[in-house]
Amino acid sequence: MKINFLTQIFIAFVLAVILGAVVGPSIEVVSPLGDAFLRLIQFIIAPLILATLVVGVAGHGDLKRVGRMGGKTVAYYLVTSAIAISLGLGMGFLFSPGEGVDIPTESIDESAAETEGTEGIVDTLLNIIPTNPFESLVEGNILQIIFFALFLGVAISAVGEKARPVLTFFEAFSEVMFKITGLVIMLAPIGVFGLVAPIIGTHGLGVLLPLLQVILAMIAACVIHVVVTYGIAVKTLGRMSPITFIKGIAPAAIFAFSSASSAGTLPLTIKNTTENLGVSKGTSSFVLPLGATINMDGTAIYQGVAVIFIAQFYGIDLSVMQLLTVVLIATLASIGTAGVPGAGLIMLTLVLTNIGLPLEGIALIAGIDRILDMFRTSVNVIGDASAAVIVDRKEPMDEEKAA
Ligand code: ASP
Repeated sequence: MKINFLTQIFIAFVLAVILGAVVGPSIEVVSPLGDAFLRLIQFIIAPLILATLVVGVAGHGDLKRVGRMGGKTVAYYLVTSAIAISLGLGMGFLFSPGEGVDIPTESIDESAAETEGTEGIVDTLLNIIPTNPFESLVEGNILQIIFFALFLGVAISAVGEKARPVLTFFEAFSEVMFKITGLVIMLAPIGVFGLVAPIIGTHGLGVLLPLLQVILAMIAACVIHVVVTYGIAVKTLGRMSPITFIKGIAPAAIFAFSSASSAGTLPLTIKNTTENLGVSKGTSSFVLPLGATINMDGTAIYQGVAVIFIAQFYGIDLSVMQLLTVVLIATLASIGTAGVPGAGLIMLTLVLTNIGLPLEGIALIAGIDRILDMFRTSVNVIGDASAAVIVDRKEPMDEEKAA
């Protein structure tokens, strides 16, 4: 059944590429299929996280364990992100994508270089505390929902017997949300088809040629990060065969590739990690939403590759100090990146400004951003799942595993 589902998604993907290439831009007509599926999957997110996380914390309420789990999760996310950026920089140097590139100026879209106001670190942290938790749910602000759910869970276990009905409600509610998730996800192959065919149809393969080196550097860094970094982490820290891991998370990775949204992929990531990788629901509902919001290894790789590309294009030599700054800033930037399409491109402005590279450089790769986005989003999702496997092994949230 599982293999069947993966095969279905794969067939949908290949079909989309073929039809997109053959039919061209008019394949746009199928895009409502993709949009409908994205909407369906997004509508699950807020209630799913709330219910499962409340149960995860309150059901087996041990505040210390939740704290240890949070610490390990964040530490793993930071370390892997720093490795990812270094890999991106390394592959950037190896492929030298910016040397001898000739990109016609008229293809440069200046508007793409417009920056969105980036918040300061204090504001970002303050923003995690919701002033109105219902507003957080309405707006789908994942970090605020996590905050609310953690607080609710802790309070439910502190109140004890009297709060039983609330816990029972959330337990039943989370079962219902898992059921809805399962039903929606059966439609994933249709969604993948509807998302991928229009991208291939409108982009064509021609736009890719001048920037082929950037794409190749990106692919190489992504593959190495998944196979080596996650492979070793999952094997040594999570005691799981890397092959089992990749197979289990493949549907979510392919969907992330098609949708370029790790936040949108979240329900599928939770489903894959719990059902295929045996991670407990408590752990996945804590580690994965957090990861979908703050852990973006693929985006970090992309920042590294992009910085080298832009520096080389403008003939600027980066000092060791500047490279170290890239690692630091890009780690922060990847934390601040939202799990939606194109967010990494906006955050690139932060990195470029900090090391004094021309912002116009962004316009150079804007044309292929969607393609790069697909790769980075898959890595973002696979990275979150690797954390779930490892943290679940080290700090299981569910009683049956902790025992
Ligand atoms: N699209 C990416 C994601 O959803 C974020 C990015 O643009 O880098 O994870």
